[in-house]
Amino acid sequence: MRGAPVVATTRGDLDAALAAGRAKGRSVGLVPTMGALHDGHLALVERARQLADLVVVSIFVNPTQFGAGEDLDRYPRTFDSDLEQLAQVGVDVVFHPAVAEMYPDGADGPGVTVDPGPLGAELEGVVRPTHFRGVLTVVAKLFGLVRPDVAVFGEKDYQQLVLIKQMARTLCLPVVVEGCPTVREVDGLALSSRNRYLDGPQRQLAVALSRALDAGADAGPSGTVAVLEAARKTLGEVDGVDVDYLTLRAPDLSDPVPGREARLLVAARVGSTRLIDNVAVSLGAEEDS
Ligand code: AMP
Repeated sequence: MRGAPVVATTRGDLDAALAAGRAKGRSVGLVPTMGALHDGHLALVERARQLADLVVVSIFVNPTQFGAGEDLDRYPRTFDSDLEQLAQVGVDVVFHPAVAEMYPDGADGPGVTVDPGPLGAELEGVVRPTHFRGVLTVVAKLFGLVRPDVAVFGEKDYQQLVLIKQMARTLCLPVVVEGCPTVREVDGLALSSRNRYLDGPQRQLAVALSRALDAGADAGPSGTVAVLEAARKTLGEVDGVDVDYLTLRAPDLSDPVPGREARLLVAARVGSTRLIDNVAVSLGAEEDS
């Protein structure tokens, strides 16, 4: 059993908290989060505990991944209850830096950033053109600060996971990036810190996303067109769900290939809350006739 986690707010605190373990050759696992923790985050922690000797969870609401007019100011910040949950599941270090620690030259000044490349401009990047630059930049910083052997991210943010894997590979970063399946409510809604923005009726509507993905996945053997038709039909039956995109891709987010695994991704607005979800699809070998 681990004791209560050490809370580190600076690079110095982090180094001190990990020094003894590193000296003994212990491996380090990192779970980056923005806090407001739920069971999805805790599943990542559990995976990190399986993969590494020491587990660091970072809690940092990263300003550079929010666009103008997005929810940076009202994003839920629940550090005390986050810490309680992490103490219960058992982690070694909680890294909770101030913005100035992560962005010594300021978060909105000019500076070196990570360019996500063309995939960063697709899907989420169409509506949130600076989002992945902010995500990859902060994750690269966290990798530099924590120097993890393994880092665990959720499939819930599938495009983010693909881009972080690409970043680690193309920038030759010495970290294994591990994906973890999406944790869902009983009715299928993917857990998200933003679900708390939904009122009762919106919460009822929100389940349409996972229902549509399930309908699409069930149609997988019949091919791409059938998958998209089935998912679109389910979404189309619901008023109040405003779809940004519904698309079928290969697991690396290139074009899907018949007979192979694929990924069906959706983004939609329910009221002013933007929700995303995705699911694996096994595509039939025959393309639709
Ligand atoms: P966030 O705090 O929203 O930035 O998310 C931190 C990490 O938790 C990311 O790797 C997310 O993909 C992951 N995550 C968020 N929701 C879920 C979920 N429902 N199931 C699994 N992982 C999740």
